[in-house]
Amino acid sequence: MAQTYKSQIMAWGWREIVLDTRADAISHRGDPEPDARIAEYPDCAEGCDAEGHVGSYYLGKHWNLFPSGRFYAPWSATYAWERRKDQAYAVALEAVADKYGGWIESGEGDPTDVYFCRYWPTTPRYN
Ligand SMILES: [Zn+2]
Repeated sequence: MAQTYKSQIMAWGWREIVLDTRADAISHRGDPEPDARIAEYPDCAEGCDAEGHVGSYYLGKHWNLFPSGRFYAPWSATYAWERRKDQAYAVALEAVADKYGGWIESGEGDPTDVYFCRYWPTTPRYN
């Protein structure tokens, strides 16, 4: 099951997805000063720092991506089988994200939004 999910996810346009996170990271204005509060840099996200920026790519709504088509509260005990499928999918998604140098995050404002995030060091921007 996990392997099937992984091949499905691998088939997405990862080259474009990765490039999109780069474009997003580059669009952040200013490098946060060391020890600065990220809140002072409106374009930045958690993980941006003096050496680089985190770019994100919106993958979609949780219920459109995950096999159950539902979004479960973490404490929900219902639909055990579907939750297991979703967990296998999450593991596959994380593995593919890792392969492409990033990770998966849910939206800060809306936990049902799913993003691929990748950290880009600042230095290559000036090359
Ligand atoms: Zn930033």
